[in-house]
Amino acid sequence: MAVKEFKAESKRLLDMMIHSIYTQKEIFLRELISNASDAIDKIYYKALTDENLTFDKDNYYIKITPDKENRTLTVSDTGIGMTEEELENNLGTIAQSGSLAFKNENESKDGYDLIGQFGVGFYSAFMVADEITVISKAVGSSQAYKWQSKGAEGYTIEPCEKDGYGTDIILKLKENTEDEDYDQFLEEYRLKALVKKYSDFIRYPIKMDVTER
Ligand code: ADP
Ligand code: MG
Repeated sequence: MAVKEFKAESKRLLDMMIHSIYTQKEIFLRELISNASDAIDKIYYKALTDENLTFDKDNYYIKITPDKENRTLTVSDTGIGMTEEELENNLGTIAQSGSLAFKNENESKDGYDLIGQFGVGFYSAFMVADEITVISKAVGSSQAYKWQSKGAEGYTIEPCEKDGYGTDIILKLKENTEDEDYDQFLEEYRLKALVKKYSDFIRYPIKMDVTER
């Protein structure tokens, strides 16, 4: 399968994330949850004008799944999803978000603090993951697609199976180092605390299966 290269400006941000010494790496979760929430908002607004769509609140949620055995953390949503083109355009290039334009202009001042304040979105997940897999099925589409990247080298996109609309973002967490503990992002209590700290205002349920003791 052909590996596609990231666009030049994305590469820059990506490198910044991969080699980040930023201490607040935990904000990646806030970014992924905010994207998941945006994706559900998009269905909600679409349903307002599209007679064929109804927005049944109970069907829309965000789910966090830590898997200690495989050292993966998955953030799933039942939102609008992405087509093959959207995976390519939205994840292969930096979003035209205002925050990012602002950040580029001000990067020289204090890039790292600005990460905390404004967020850098999806790519921030590369601060904690050495591989990211995105499985997505767009509303109204019958085919799901898998976007996968280990960072610098680029990414691949291929058709795959997925039940239901929405997106799963699967992070293969980096190995712990002397200075960095990535395993913390597999701990339920830690994930709960992060959701409370950064994502308390999110309007959709954020679920996590809790291990019974
Ligand atoms: P921003 O949220 O500021 O647009 P991001 O880097 O966080 O920038 O995300 C880039 C784009 O990728 C989003 O604008 C959206 O189009 C798409 N995207 C990311 N996560 C999801 C998701 N869970 N569901 C649907 N689209 C997503
Ligand atoms: Mg975002």
